[in-house]
Order: sequence, then structure tokens, then C-alpha cells
Amino acid sequence: MDYSHSVKKFRLTDFEDKRKHFENLGRRQNPHTLFIGCSDSRVVPSLITQSAPGELFIVRNIANIVPPYRDSVEFLSTTAAIEYAVQILNVKTIIVCGHSNCGGCAALYQDSYELEKIPHTRRWLELALPAKERVMKMISGTDHAAREWLTEQMNVVDQLNQLMTYPYIKERVDDSQIKILGWHYLIPTGDIYQYEDDSGQFELFGT
Ligand SMILES: [Zn+2]
Repeated sequence: MDYSHSVKKFRLTDFEDKRKHFENLGRRQNPHTLFIGCSDSRVVPSLITQSAPGELFIVRNIANIVPPYRDSVEFLSTTAAIEYAVQILNVKTIIVCGHSNCGGCAALYQDSYELEKIPHTRRWLELALPAKERVMKMISGTDHAAREWLTEQMNVVDQLNQLMTYPYIKERVDDSQIKILGWHYLIPTGDIYQYEDDSGQFELFGT
């Protein structure tokens, strides 16, 4: 892949179109939203939210996972990004965005020997196992499509709950300073389903 043409095109078109905006962003950012999404190449946060540069603070990892809060001396990339977005940038909204055909969620159902070559991924995905366990109790049979969707959605719900284990997030949610949204984005249709607390269901959003 040769990016020289793309970089030049960006400078001459998109950048020039928004030159003032980029100049204003030159010394500071003030994003309103923390977007937690999957690393999947098909999920493009700024596109699906129609956001401009400077609006979204983004952290992405396999299967859009929020690790449970804990004090640690390890290098915790997702936890650090969440902390910075909330404590320093004071975002007002957090979106956890799962998506259809998520390879991370699908891997939960693979035999461990199939994941031998990707031990770090396998270990990381252990954080999403509770979603799989719940889904296995909810549906029986071999309806793979239903299992896939439900796992992706249950995984989002789990991550919404994990966010509440972060003391500084719980405090802000309780004070209505932060709103947390859970999304399931369908790649082939462009639809986004949002988790509704009242119904406990994902409902088509933005119609
Ligand atoms: Zn994914």
C-alpha cells in the first residue's frame, strides 16, 4: 500500500476545506465523547457518528472491551485512555460500540487449539467470556446468526457495566455529568441499535 498519494490528497482537499478548524485544533482538543470501539477495520467511528476531528476521543481494542477497574502498575492502555478522557478531558458521553460479524466475539466459540497462535488475543478475550456464558444459557440449538448477534450485544452490555466499576465514572453518571451509550453497529446495513435501560433491549436508533 502506497500512502503518498492519499497523504497529498488529504492535504489538498479535506485539510484545505477545514483549514480553519484544524488551525483552531492545533494547540488543544476538547472532545465531548469517548468512543470505545472494536479495532475492526470496518468500524469507522467518525463516519458513523458524523464527527469532525476534535470531537471524539477514541480507544479501540479487539471486541471493544472495558477491562474491570483495578489499581495496577502494568501498562493498561484501555484503562489509561478511559481515565484520561474522563478525568482530564471531561467528556460528557461515553459510547461503547460493538458491531456485527465481530471476529473477537466469534473467537469466544473457537476451540483453544485454533487460538494457539494468538495467545495474547485469547487471553484478552477471556474478559468477554461472561457474555458467551450468558448467551449459551439464553439460546439453544445451532442458530449461529442469533448467537452471533446476541453475543455481540451482551458483550456491549457487559462493558457498560464494567464502566461503572470505575469509581470516577460511577460518580459522574450518578451526578448526571456523563451519559453512557451502548451500540451495536450493523456493517452491511449501516443501522445502529442502542441499548435501552428500560426495556433491556437494543432498539434501532437514529431513525
Ligand atoms: Zn470486532
